[in-house]
Amino acid sequence: MSDKFSLKNAQAMDDADVLKNLRSRFNLPDGIVYLDGNSLGALPSSTAARINTVVEGEWGGDLIKSWNSHNWMNQPRVLGDKIAKIIGAAAGEVIACDSTSVNLFKVVAQAKSLRPNRTKILSEEGNFPTDLYVLQGLVKMLGDSASYATVPTAELMSAIDKDTAVVVLTHVNFKSGAIHDMAAISKHAHDMGALIVWDLCHSAGAVPLNLSADGADYAVGCGYKYLNGGPGSPAFLYVAKRHQTAATSPLTGWMGHANPFEFSEQYNPAGDIERNLCGSPVIIALAALDEGLKTFDGVDMADVREKSMALGTFFIELMEEKLGAYGFELACTKEASARGSQVSYSHEHGYAIMQALIDKGVIGDFRAPDIMRFGFAPLYIGYVDVWRSVEILKEIMDGDVWKNPAYATKSQVT
Ligand SMILES: *Cc1c(COP(=O)(O)O)cnc(C)c1O
Repeated sequence: MSDKFSLKNAQAMDDADVLKNLRSRFNLPDGIVYLDGNSLGALPSSTAARINTVVEGEWGGDLIKSWNSHNWMNQPRVLGDKIAKIIGAAAGEVIACDSTSVNLFKVVAQAKSLRPNRTKILSEEGNFPTDLYVLQGLVKMLGDSASYATVPTAELMSAIDKDTAVVVLTHVNFKSGAIHDMAAISKHAHDMGALIVWDLCHSAGAVPLNLSADGADYAVGCGYKYLNGGPGSPAFLYVAKRHQTAATSPLTGWMGHANPFEFSEQYNPAGDIERNLCGSPVIIALAALDEGLKTFDGVDMADVREKSMALGTFFIELMEEKLGAYGFELACTKEASARGSQVSYSHEHGYAIMQALIDKGVIGDFRAPDIMRFGFAPLYIGYVDVWRSVEILKEIMDGDVWKNPAYATKSQVT
């Protein structure tokens, strides 16, 4: 039997991988191990040609007729339905638009309006900052009728009380990768009379979801992480069917109107998920998102999850075996089933070590103050990639390569 930690074993695991052929759906540069699909998904092989078709053919050739002839107008809904399949929602419950931050504002405001006699909008410490900032801004705007609170994760359940209007949580934590039990927390929120909003940025395309069965009221998520939609890709939002006509978006733009081309001066919301749109759909970016979503065609999320857990576990085991002496502290759970598609370590020199790694072709990222984050996008990462990344990290540590002062200079984006 070959050594578990050998290159040969990693190759054997790649050979046995049911998802191995999906890598050809992406253009990845030679010689790079890309462990940052959790921040910016890789480029699908079909995206550039599709963008060219939309720009030269549709926009250039058919000009404004394209809104009808190329179905531009309905792209937010068409893509929403494709995302729905990936996140376990029904057709008509998801729409692709705006950014995650903007969508969060829109859905939390709606949820709050459905609980007018309760003030508290509750989240947890350690949530992604933009989520907390959006809640702070919303509460400021709502004045005395709303209040903002965050609690440590361990106190979350007990903090959901009779004054809680809305609970806002990120399903997979961006730093630790810890996964919340969506069904249990949603149920508890409902038992207490509150509504719940889930941020799926690190979940969509990474872990199987079942929003309907798990009781989500509203959700938002990213297009540019595991969904491979490209930098600044449109995000998505989900509204459970039961709430769709109960509230209106606070951003009452014309695309959310029942009939935008009536040009009536009175806002009259669309009778479905489309009332959550605001301005004109971003056609070129939506085309890129569409190609990103196509990388999931025919893919079973259960296979994605199984491979994602195995990749993370292989990485952790290799780190223990080969880099145990270098002070890397696991900053996520070792229990694969309680972790999203990422592994993080804290290290006092994490920033410089990550810059050295990136320089040597292994791309992960760094989250202040000391977290090195490695994402494993199972559609295009394999076991040999994991093996190589640990080998290269070992070379960097053994040779003190990271001590080069060039690696200490902070860039704008980490
Ligand atoms: C990536 C991420 C966002 C990003 O929001 P944008 O508005 O797209 O910049 C928001 N929330 C979470 C939890 C994220 O991981």
